[in-house]
Amino acid sequence: MRLLLHICCAPDATTAYKRLSGSGEVVGYFFNPNVQPYEEYLKRRQALEKLSSIWNFDVFYPPYDPDEWFKTVRGLEDLPEGSMRCKACIAFRLRKSALFAKENGFDAFATSLTTSPHKDVNFTNDIGTKLAKKIGTTYIPSAFRKNNGFLESVNYCKSLGIYRQNYCGCVFSLPKVKV
Ligand code: SF4
Repeated sequence: MRLLLHICCAPDATTAYKRLSGSGEVVGYFFNPNVQPYEEYLKRRQALEKLSSIWNFDVFYPPYDPDEWFKTVRGLEDLPEGSMRCKACIAFRLRKSALFAKENGFDAFATSLTTSPHKDVNFTNDIGTKLAKKIGTTYIPSAFRKNNGFLESVNYCKSLGIYRQNYCGCVFSLPKVKV
């Protein structure tokens, strides 16, 4: 099986990649225009480049273009993390991943988002399955954080020297600076 793994960040990709790679060839897809500022996007991309080079797997890096992402979450900017804004953001990234998987002949796609303890696993799997059906591909549901998956990702990052970010990604999730 040839599987496309939507990778939200290198830390979450560690557990996801390890758990999926026994099922066939896993190729990464780093589609995250939700990450701001651009310097942070580059930092996360470089972390993934480091991981994929150590573990020897390929990753696609589509161009960074946050405009469409900002349109997707328009009107939802002030909502908290875990709200409709995050659902729109996740659906946006999974839709592009499903399209890419379909257009490039992958057997299925999955996402590393479910390594994170902060993401809604049920929503992520439901929307991934619906999008796959609509687009004509297959989504592999996951809950990579289970069975110590998140802890594993922390340990991989420590041992490999992989950068771990301290906020989800968008400008609305940036830690507030106390004045
Ligand atoms: S907090 Fe994270 S999941 Fe939610 S909208 Fe921002 S980047 Fe997307």
